Amino acid sequence: MKRLKVLHLFFWLVIIGLVLTEAKAETPFAKKIYKVLIIDGQNNHRNMADGTVMMKKFLEETGLFTADVITTPKKGENMDSFKPDFSGYDVVLSNYNGDAWPEATNTAFEKFVKNGGGLVIVHAADNAFPKWLAYNKMIGLGGWEGRNEKSGPYLYFDEAKGKMVKDTAKGVGGSHGHQHEFVVTTRDVKHPIMKGLPTAWLHQKDELYDRLRGPAENVNVLATAYSPVEQKGSGRIEPMLMTLQYGKGRIFHTTLGHENYSQKCVGFITTLQRGTEWVASGKVTQAVPADFPTVTKGSARP
Ligand SMILES: [Zn+2]
Repeated sequence: MKRLKVLHLFFWLVIIGLVLTEAKAETPFAKKIYKVLIIDGQNNHRNMADGTVMMKKFLEETGLFTADVITTPKKGENMDSFKPDFSGYDVVLSNYNGDAWPEATNTAFEKFVKNGGGLVIVHAADNAFPKWLAYNKMIGLGGWEGRNEKSGPYLYFDEAKGKMVKDTAKGVGGSHGHQHEFVVTTRDVKHPIMKGLPTAWLHQKDELYDRLRGPAENVNVLATAYSPVEQKGSGRIEPMLMTLQYGKGRIFHTTLGHENYSQKCVGFITTLQRGTEWVASGKVTQAVPADFPTVTKGSARP
């Protein structure tokens, strides 16, 4: 009888042990999952909704992020209802290019970034809000919507000087030539977002933004691309990926990502994933994927 009791106790100890082991396996040590808010709703790009779905997937498949989507009212509609609670998020990703937000929303957004919130700006999001000074300081450079030399200098890479230069001469802010495949070249190999990536890689067909203008304060250009005159480009080496600081907030700005086929580039996906982790934490823990493009061989995911 006593022996049976001991066996019984032993049985339950084994069961409890198994349950505890299982629970431990399901909760890996304090792995932080960053919360991302993707904003869309208006954009001059017809792939806006697809882009949101794709970018949400790219971020969540890393296991580092969960992403919510908030969609603004349509163009011309009353914007008063657009009041996201930014404070619940680590990062805001803007896929938005449209009407001005309510003043209170702008103020809350400025406060979010200034206090250390991360911001990711994708392609046409840098066309938005030409009159909102704080936003232009956050994105560094923007295009179209009446931007010109009054918006700030045109920043490009001067090969002879080996550095970025600011051109304050009169001219348009923002243009692009024909879409084509082009090589993206790293200019800051030590930055966590770029570290370990090939220093030059072939990007899928995309718009190559040129002549972007803005306050260009605290901007660190991570990568550039040559905009060929034959493709109706600027003939200059243009910033493609950049980081900025606004108050305590980190910003990653990618000019890439015009169409679905552009966003399927493993170079676009990887820099978006790494850029989002960097704005959230100041670090990048993600490995370089095996299918990353090389300088001669592009790479896209289905
Ligand atoms: Zn575009």
